[in-house]
Amino acid sequence: MKKYVYFFGSRKTDGKAEMKNLLGGKGANLAEMSRLGIPVPAGFTITTDCCNDYFANRARFPEGMKEQVKKALKLVEEEMGMRFGDRDNSLLLSSRSGARSSMPGMMETVLNIGLCSKTIPGLIKKTGNERFVFDSYRRLITMYSDVVMEKAEGIEPEEGKGIRVQLEAIMDGLKRSKGYKNDTDLKVEDLKYLCDEYKKKVMEVLDRPFPDDPMGQLWGSIGAVFKSWNGKRAVAYRRIEGIPDTWGTAVNVQAMVFGNMGDSSATGVAFTRNPATGDKRFYGEWLPNAQGEDVVAGIRTPNPINEATKNEQNMHLPSLEKAMPGLYRQLHDIQRRLERHYRDMQDIEFTIQEGKLYMLQTRIGKRTGTAALNMAMDMLKEGLISEPIAVMRLKPEQLDELLHPIVDPRAEKTATIIARGLPAGPGGASGHIVFRAEDAVEWEKNGKKVILVREETNPEDVAGMRAAEGILTARGGMTSHAALVARGWGKCCIVGAGAIHVDPVDGKMTVDGKTYKEGDILTLNGTKGYVYEGRIGMIDATENPRFQNFMKLVDKYRKLGVRANADTPADAATARNFGAEGIGLFRTEHMFYGENSEKPLFLLRQMILSNTVEERKSALDKLFSYVKGDIKATLKVMQGLPVTIRLLDPPLHEFVPQEEVQQKELADSLGIDVKEIVIRGELLHELNPMMGHRGVRLGITYPEVSEMQIRAIFEAAAELIKEKTKAIPEIMIPVTCDVNELKEQDKIIKRIYKEVLSKFNLRKIDYKMGTMIEIPRACLLADEMAEEAEFFSFGTNDLTQMGFGFSRDDIGGFLGAYLEKKILKADPFQTIDQEGIGQLIEMAITKGRSTRKDLKVGICGEQGGDPASVKFCYKAGLTYVSCSPYRVPIARLAAAHATIEASSGKKKAAKKKKR
Ligand code: ADP
Ligand code: MG
Ligand code: MG
Repeated sequence: MKKYVYFFGSRKTDGKAEMKNLLGGKGANLAEMSRLGIPVPAGFTITTDCCNDYFANRARFPEGMKEQVKKALKLVEEEMGMRFGDRDNSLLLSSRSGARSSMPGMMETVLNIGLCSKTIPGLIKKTGNERFVFDSYRRLITMYSDVVMEKAEGIEPEEGKGIRVQLEAIMDGLKRSKGYKNDTDLKVEDLKYLCDEYKKKVMEVLDRPFPDDPMGQLWGSIGAVFKSWNGKRAVAYRRIEGIPDTWGTAVNVQAMVFGNMGDSSATGVAFTRNPATGDKRFYGEWLPNAQGEDVVAGIRTPNPINEATKNEQNMHLPSLEKAMPGLYRQLHDIQRRLERHYRDMQDIEFTIQEGKLYMLQTRIGKRTGTAALNMAMDMLKEGLISEPIAVMRLKPEQLDELLHPIVDPRAEKTATIIARGLPAGPGGASGHIVFRAEDAVEWEKNGKKVILVREETNPEDVAGMRAAEGILTARGGMTSHAALVARGWGKCCIVGAGAIHVDPVDGKMTVDGKTYKEGDILTLNGTKGYVYEGRIGMIDATENPRFQNFMKLVDKYRKLGVRANADTPADAATARNFGAEGIGLFRTEHMFYGENSEKPLFLLRQMILSNTVEERKSALDKLFSYVKGDIKATLKVMQGLPVTIRLLDPPLHEFVPQEEVQQKELADSLGIDVKEIVIRGELLHELNPMMGHRGVRLGITYPEVSEMQIRAIFEAAAELIKEKTKAIPEIMIPVTCDVNELKEQDKIIKRIYKEVLSKFNLRKIDYKMGTMIEIPRACLLADEMAEEAEFFSFGTNDLTQMGFGFSRDDIGGFLGAYLEKKILKADPFQTIDQEGIGQLIEMAITKGRSTRKDLKVGICGEQGGDPASVKFCYKAGLTYVSCSPYRVPIARLAAAHATIEASSGKKKAAKKKKR
């Protein structure tokens, strides 16, 4: 019989922190806290494995599970000294979701299970607190009918018709008619009335009575929490985060403790350090006389946990430190202990029941990139973590956020703040206002940057939040679920900007009497919580010295080289700034596009449309100085770092002039008729240009084209050497499929090399000759290719295109469907297809190194900056990766992670062997 149920309590605990996969993060950490002797209400965790078996068993509990639950429940009853469903002394339970990695607010939880006509009178007698009992009961009815009776049954009510909304409307109506401001103003009679009305409403809307037996409520809640794994929000969140569907969620059934028993009771959420900035100060929010859900749902503005971290919104509210100093001290000790134990920032939940503190959750806290960087460097200094762990603490994707712009402080000084809120996610964002998550997705698809403006943070909006540049809400606190999610993504986010009135129905918001419509532009400073009208300039955030120090550490642990793809001296300079150790791809054709390209493009066209070798040579001669100038400038910027220069790659017809003016000009310069130009252009037309007359094939048919470029490369290097500047060009032949192509080209290289040496009176120029590997045949024959080539550079764009047989320019038509139907796991043009194309790469490396031991191998496709691809490259034994200049720091960090992961993997394996 499988063990499905793991007990945790003060006397005995089955699980521990390492068992996250089986118990989910919440369950594993509840067990760990119990082991540490921290006060946690007793309970048990039903495994993620049980969740999978439950689904495999057509949503029925697998055999043996119920018996195990009943046994564990006995233990909980013993420890708490109460009995579930007992008339006089009834235990109440919560049923909480908890997956392997935390998905804040994305799944369901039911509280106060066990309240029914049988247990209510006894509970009132025992506690002497009728208000508390009916407050808990109305909460149970709300949560249970929403989670178990509606969502888990797959009922999808229209907007505003959900049972929860309808029940809340009853409460709001009552509060309004009685003139109450807060839920805490409700009297016993009000709550009794609400419970009765709620039950009637449930019957009316869902056509079933609210269940009145404790065991029935418990089984219903457990099943519903399992089912919430497949709820809409959870599924959307998993897609974005790349969490596999097969993980499943655990269910934690736990004895209830009550923060809503009166003024000596409370509940709260806190972080051991500030998750937005990394500031080393205990930080959080709490509410007196409330249950945990009240804080995270952002219903009331929560109070600050201590004096040191008050903010503009909660200045006037009492801190826990002042209100309950003894309990605050106890909580403070526990949070310190937890952070030391886990050696990382913790996100904790606690409840105080009549002056007694209980911990309900601890987990590694989500944080912004800035906070991750600051915490890693602080904890390193504090001796809490080692260097490699500090490096691992920042995810490569988070670095992207650090490299992102912040609002230009100078421009900000002169701008007017229209509203202030809480700085929930850092950085700056400008964009068009939208009021609905669907609109954010839609606008983003159309290439528009948007700010999603909502009344309150709501986990249902995940997709829209993801699509938005920034998020702004009128209500909600720093620990609200949506703020957590935004922070996890490093999204610029401001919550609780109370001055804003949002009217999503009419698509407008008003601030201080001024109205803003959908499409109007706002700027957010998420680091400070300021909202501005209109667009404000942004600046780069990398000058931070902490960032520089962190990157030094990264390089210390990195083994894989990182270069950049750069086509201009300016790009090359950016790349060096970001720490590139060379250029992995310099495309000569770049000078024929965009700014200042008129003259070289004209000459190139002349060359292309030449009919005789003489005509062509004369055009090439004139083109020569442009090519040389460009290469020389780039080599110079790189100061002796290697620069891989690729010979002309694209199909020539791409350059054929289409407009009459250009055709005429060209015709005149060649002394021929325009008609002749058109005819010559048509002759170059190809049916399948990507596989046509391009790359090395041009060099084979027109050796003089290669010759010109090679001479430009050598002369550029020679001139620099004469000027006492180091230059290391690497000549790269593109689109090769056979070693004989390389032999042909190498003859030219050798000949020109000699000519240039003697012309400049030099003994040698440091150079390499190699090839791009982008055709599957070249991979198969890599051993032969490596006999000629001193380096390989995988052109993974083309290799993927030809390996899959997917035209890169035409994937729009079908790739979406492939991903949706899960035929492919990911877009292979963004992240290397390790299973398929990865094999070609590995084979080419092994074969290549079999004939040339010191073969240098790089990659210069788009995927070179993708963290997963970088890790693959390290494992496959590449010498370096090359990516766009802005992704260089990300690739450096991913490369360091790859080394550290590999070495800790080896250590683990060694340990296992010893055992
Ligand atoms: P989430 O994962 O969405 O945070 P939780 O399972 O943590 O959901 O539960 C939601 C809220 O209910 C939390 O604030 C939590 O502290 C509170 N809660 C859960 N179980 C109990 C319990 N046994 N006693 C008191 N409060 C509880
Ligand atoms: Mg929680
Ligand atoms: Mg290519």
